[in-house]
Amino acid sequence: MKIAILSRKSSLYSTAKLKEAGEKRGHEMLVIDYLRCFMNIASHRPTIMFAGRELVDIEAVIPRIGASHTFYGTAVVRQFEMMGVYSSNESQAITRSRDKLRCLQILSRDGVGLPVSGIAHSIKDIEGLIDSVGGAPLVVKVVEGTQGTGVILAETRKAAEAVIEAFRGLDANILVQEFIKEAAGSDIRCIVIGGKVVASMMRTSSGGDFRSNLHRGGIAKKVKITPEEKATALRAAKSMGLQIAGVDILRSNHGPVVMEVNSSPGLEGIEMSTGIDVSEKIIEFLEKKARPNQNKDRIK
Ligand code: ADP
Ligand code: GLU
Repeated sequence: MKIAILSRKSSLYSTAKLKEAGEKRGHEMLVIDYLRCFMNIASHRPTIMFAGRELVDIEAVIPRIGASHTFYGTAVVRQFEMMGVYSSNESQAITRSRDKLRCLQILSRDGVGLPVSGIAHSIKDIEGLIDSVGGAPLVVKVVEGTQGTGVILAETRKAAEAVIEAFRGLDANILVQEFIKEAAGSDIRCIVIGGKVVASMMRTSSGGDFRSNLHRGGIAKKVKITPEEKATALRAAKSMGLQIAGVDILRSNHGPVVMEVNSSPGLEGIEMSTGIDVSEKIIEFLEKKARPNQNKDRIK
C-alpha cells in the first residue's frame, strides 16, 4: 500500500518508527507535513497539493496532528476522507478528543469511570464549585493545556480559590477535579488499536510532582492491567470513536478513572518500556482496514 504519515517532521521518534515499520512490511511510506498541504475544495474532485504536486494514489493516512495545529491538521485529514482515503483515526474523532471538557462529557454519558469533575464560567459560586468535587485538595486544569502544563494541585481550599480566580481572571477555561491521591503520582497509559489493548505502561512521577507525564521526567515501566482497567480503556476509545488511542487511567479507590484519551499517542515511551512494537501493530491494523474507497460515506 501507499501510506502517508501526516506529521510535521520525519525525525520524530513515532514518525520515524511508523515509517520504518511500514517499509519493513513492504509498503511505500511517505511523511507529509500537513501544514504544507493545500487543498482545493471548490472543484467536484477534492484534491490535496503538497510540495507543488497533487497527492494521488494514497490508500491510507496515519494522522499525527500536533495539539497546536488541530484546526488545520484535521481539515487536511478530512480532505483525505473526502477523497475516500482511509484514515487510522477519523478527523471528527481527533477534534473531539482534543477538547478535554467535551471528552469528559462524552465519556460520562457513556458510563466510563471518571474523576469527579466540575466546570463553571462565573466565579460567583466558587464555593459551590469546590464543594461539588468534594472540597480540597483538588486539581485545577486549564482546558487547553497539554503535557501537564496548566494542571495544578491545590492542597487547601484557600489555594483552590486563589488558583481558580487567577485563571478565570485570565479568561482561561478551567475544570476542577477531585484529587486522586491514592494514585500516588502514577498513571496507566493503555494503547488501544482497533478494539484491543496492545500495550500498557505505568508512568510514575519523579521529584515529588503529582503529574506523571514523561515530558516532566516521569518514569515508565511495563504494567499488567486488570480486566476492569482493560474494559475501561476499550470503552473510552470506543466512546470517543478512536481506532487508535492512548487512554490515560488513574487507579482510584472507586475503580479505574479515565483522565484523557489521546488520538496520537507517543510511541517511544510505550515501545521502550514494554518492548512491544506498537508501530508494527498500527501498520497491521491499516492492512486489515484500509480498502480503497471504503470510507466515502463515513462523514456525518
Ligand atoms: P495533560 O493533558 O496536560 O497531560 P492530564 O490531565 O493528563 O494533563 O494531567 C497530567 C498528570 O497529572 C496526569 O498524568 C496525572 O499523573 C496527574 N493528574 C491529573 N489529574 C489528576 C487527578 N485528578 N488526580 C491525581 N492526579 C492527576
Ligand atoms: N454526532 C456526531 C458524531 O457522533 C458528533 C458528536 C460529537 O462529536 O460530540 O459523530
